[in-house]
Amino acid sequence: MSSKPILTIIETPSPHWVGDGFLVRPLFAEYAFRNEISPFLMLDYAAPVEFPPSDTPPGVGGHPHKGFETVTIVYNGEVEHRDSAGNSGKIGPGDVQWMTAGSGLLHEEFHSREASKRGGVVSMAQLWVNLPKRDKNAPPRYQTILDGTIPRVALPEGAGELRVIAGRYGDAQGPASTFTPVDVWDIRLTKGATITLPLPEGHNAILPVLEGALRIDGKDIGPSKAVLFGRKGDCVTITATADAQLLLLGGEPLDEPIAHYGPFVMNTQDEIRQAIDDFRRGKMGVL
Ligand code: MN
Repeated sequence: MSSKPILTIIETPSPHWVGDGFLVRPLFAEYAFRNEISPFLMLDYAAPVEFPPSDTPPGVGGHPHKGFETVTIVYNGEVEHRDSAGNSGKIGPGDVQWMTAGSGLLHEEFHSREASKRGGVVSMAQLWVNLPKRDKNAPPRYQTILDGTIPRVALPEGAGELRVIAGRYGDAQGPASTFTPVDVWDIRLTKGATITLPLPEGHNAILPVLEGALRIDGKDIGPSKAVLFGRKGDCVTITATADAQLLLLGGEPLDEPIAHYGPFVMNTQDEIRQAIDDFRRGKMGVL
């Protein structure tokens, strides 16, 4: 096996609020919406924040999406979702919501009403996965992926645990249905552990360090940074220098033009103008 080279270690900006519910740090920073990370677009990580009890759940109200998928992974607390395609759901710790915006929808994302009444710690990550040109107008779809349905792989020598949300790790197949080959692995590593992760040659790979710290190829990588690897090579070897919470995101690059404006991700500026127009005319539905 040959290691994928580190292209860069992405320094991330300070966190900002999304609505009043999620204090997020954009972990792909200036690499967001670029081909180096295709098919991924961006990743917001909301580190643990303690919320006081409230009868008004914090979150973000109705807004559109078109041309890609949002993947929400909850670590602490509960998140509720409702969209104009008629889907709704509540996910808690370890659960994942994989929403295909496709042809366009409106949705809202809040802390759950019950959890909000109790108050407590909320932390989550939201990943945006691009759709290939041929599937930009796929009908909206909603996959609730509960913790219990996600395969857990114990890593050798007590190194930690890897949950396969999408793609395949060894014999474990992730439950998420995807439009293109994508690996989304949720990894906990124990301090001192070293693991080698096999990844397909030719795929992009990015390793956000949500919590803890790593050493890769002699480079130290602290929390809230993301390691971007090159397409060559078929594995990465990482050592945890502190207990670590990671995501490994790998995938076949789409290598198609990316036109991006706010919540719309298409291939051309004309398609972006059309999406804005469709949204204004109410063609993406109502909540
Ligand atoms: Mn959204």
